Amino acid sequence: MRLRILVTDEVDPEGVALLTADSRLDVDVEPTLPPDVLRERIADYDAIVGRSATRVTAGLLESAPRLKVVGRAGVGVDNIAMDVATARGIAVINAPAGNTVAVAELVIGSLISLLRQLHSANASMHNGGWTRSSLLGGELAGRTLGIIGLGRIGSEVAVRAAAFGMPLVGYDPYVPDERFRGLKVRRCETLNELLELSQVVTVHTPITAETRNMIGSEQLARLAPGAIVCNLARGGIVNEDALLDSLSNGSLLGAVLDVYSTEPLAADHPLRRADNVLLTPHIGANTAEAQRNVAVDVCAAVRDALVYGELSRSINVADLSGVDWGEARSALLVARRSAALACEILAGRDVRTLQRLTVRVGPDLSGAASLLLAGAAAGMLERVVGREGVNLINSRALAEQRGTAVSVSVSDQLGHGRAVEVLASGENDEMLVAGVAPADGAPRLTRIGRFHVDVPPRGTLLVLTNRDVPGVIGRVGTVLGNAEVNIAEYHQARLDQGGEALAAVAVDTAISPELRASLLELPEVRTVTVVEFGP
Ligand code: NAD
Repeated sequence: MRLRILVTDEVDPEGVALLTADSRLDVDVEPTLPPDVLRERIADYDAIVGRSATRVTAGLLESAPRLKVVGRAGVGVDNIAMDVATARGIAVINAPAGNTVAVAELVIGSLISLLRQLHSANASMHNGGWTRSSLLGGELAGRTLGIIGLGRIGSEVAVRAAAFGMPLVGYDPYVPDERFRGLKVRRCETLNELLELSQVVTVHTPITAETRNMIGSEQLARLAPGAIVCNLARGGIVNEDALLDSLSNGSLLGAVLDVYSTEPLAADHPLRRADNVLLTPHIGANTAEAQRNVAVDVCAAVRDALVYGELSRSINVADLSGVDWGEARSALLVARRSAALACEILAGRDVRTLQRLTVRVGPDLSGAASLLLAGAAAGMLERVVGREGVNLINSRALAEQRGTAVSVSVSDQLGHGRAVEVLASGENDEMLVAGVAPADGAPRLTRIGRFHVDVPPRGTLLVLTNRDVPGVIGRVGTVLGNAEVNIAEYHQARLDQGGEALAAVAVDTAISPELRASLLELPEVRTVTVVEFGP
């Protein structure tokens, strides 16, 4: 079946062209569908791509049984019911990088405009005036710029401000020293240190519990007289009431705002009457170049997610920032299928409620640890909710909802840099399955419980436990042969001679319940577990 994509809002045509050029995709462009019509039509689509105007509500997602991907041509995802998308296994993809330059340029432009009063000069000229004496300005050069948040935009602001001769200080506890050094920004250990050194302060953090009201009256009071405050990040990082107080009592020279606690800003908001503040209506990303960049970026990522299952750009999947998707793929197969096998074996022992799923990965897979945990959780759940109902996006949330605690750690004790070990634990029983995903070879399962094995995590796998007596392999082979089931690989493992043994048998065809029953009738065979891994 062809994959169908609905494009809503004004997504730049260059991005849409990437989708329409792909013969596997059917694309409908409907920029302005009323919410009720959208809700009726969404059931037919595998993906929706839009900007901020389309509200992707819980109700909309619940009317979309086929939907796999929501693409947002831009950064903010406040218009998307993220929790519902995650619970339904729908990937949410945004385009955080395409508008960096647009915002950074507006910061510099607005600062110059404020310092030179360009907005007043222009208004006065258009009104027939020629007033020069009241338009005495100031320069950027020599004014110390304090950048709070040295991420994508903060870094671009630093580069541009340096070109204007501004000394730079920065505060961002989450980025390494190298970034500060590379950008020649002096690192401040505390926000107060930055405030005391800066004549211009600009915020470039997301809005979080930590950054909301980060600049309030106490912080503004630490600034030197005549300082300037800029917020082109998110409304609420700079407290608006405190800012108005500082503007009206003359302690600040001025402020630049592009974002507000409530948008659109109320027509009678006191900020509109403050004359030493330059206001713009959230236009930081509003350049033709940025709109094109984000559209191309998000459309390519939505296509890759739909067609190839490539979820590295999904913001509601496990943290994938450090993952090389190509390299992680075979390890993901091992994680998911090890968990599926462990859970199948435990189910055969009547352990159906798992309390814990503990994953350990070798050091070469440390960047993909969260992804591999999501994969193992999906493998654990697929026998309960079906393969269609669980994926890398919702697996951890679903596992936790069902009362299974999931965790992952990196260990150098697994004997291979790209080893994956999955331990599924119920109340009184547990099962460990492990494997390796060599960078230059096929993935293998290497351990089932206490037994060392060597079988592929593909096709159909039969796991038998039996007493280690002569002739078992032959008898199992005969039963399978009589049912015309071809054995691809047979790996027999035992702990002690004459004790317990385990056979991991990869076969080419499915095993029927009757065939499984005949294997169980063999006197030495104790248990038979069958897993259909798929190709
Ligand atoms: P980013 O994720 O690349 O950078 C954010 C930085 O903030 C990170 O380096 C992070 O470590 C830092 N940070 C987080 N919490 C912090 C804290 N408590 N103290 C100090 N630093 C902290 O994001 P970005 O792409 O640079 O975007 C920055 C902001 O700009 C975001 O809020 C984004 O929504 C906003 N934005 C606004 C517009 C607009 O139209 N005005 C357009 C795009 C982005």
